[in-house]
Amino acid sequence: MPWQRLRPRALADYRFCFPLPVQARIALLEAGFRPGRNMSVCAVDDLPRCAPEALVLPLGLALSLADRKQRGLFDLPSLNTAIVVLTSPEDSPLADRHRDLLWRAFGVPVFEQLRGSDGAVIATECEVHDGLHVIEALPDLRGEIVTDHCACGAETPRLRRPPPVLAKAAPAAVPPPIFKPVRGRTAFPIAVLTMGYFTWSFITIYRNRSFGRAAGLRPCA
Ligand SMILES: [Zn+2]
Repeated sequence: MPWQRLRPRALADYRFCFPLPVQARIALLEAGFRPGRNMSVCAVDDLPRCAPEALVLPLGLALSLADRKQRGLFDLPSLNTAIVVLTSPEDSPLADRHRDLLWRAFGVPVFEQLRGSDGAVIATECEVHDGLHVIEALPDLRGEIVTDHCACGAETPRLRRPPPVLAKAAPAAVPPPIFKPVRGRTAFPIAVLTMGYFTWSFITIYRNRSFGRAAGLRPCA
């Protein structure tokens, strides 16, 4: 049937590996993972009911929840273990400012896991937070491969991704002048009115001075 060829490709089903050796209730807010022990696929609206102690979610959603948390629009008191942020080669890497925002909002450690185009995790961050341990062959990425021994004990090479390049701020727009120059047909009547006003003022002052002298008045000292 033609419609069968139009069905979207099924997402790969990978087992999710939590980066900490603890038993925690984990909410998966991203498709493509097979929930393991203590894990459940959960929607954002169901988080209060799931009461997870750890979240696994894309970077954009994590930042959105952190922003809402700081504005008092979202709360998840059960979250007390970790946040695992999923990124992809097309995304910007998890930057320090992202970590700061997530830490200020939720107060739990943040781990990055990089997924390939098929959804498989290809590099994962350990508790040392010094690059991502490479699990599978990486696509063409900007970054440094580090091969020294990691303090976590793993000997796999690590990928240190450079911080994202911030877009330059656009130059400030020049505000329009409050008084626009007068040109053309409008200038002549205004000039005539201005000259008339000064002429009238001069005549008025002169007449008042003449009247004051005639009345014997002296100007103020
Ligand atoms: Zn490590």
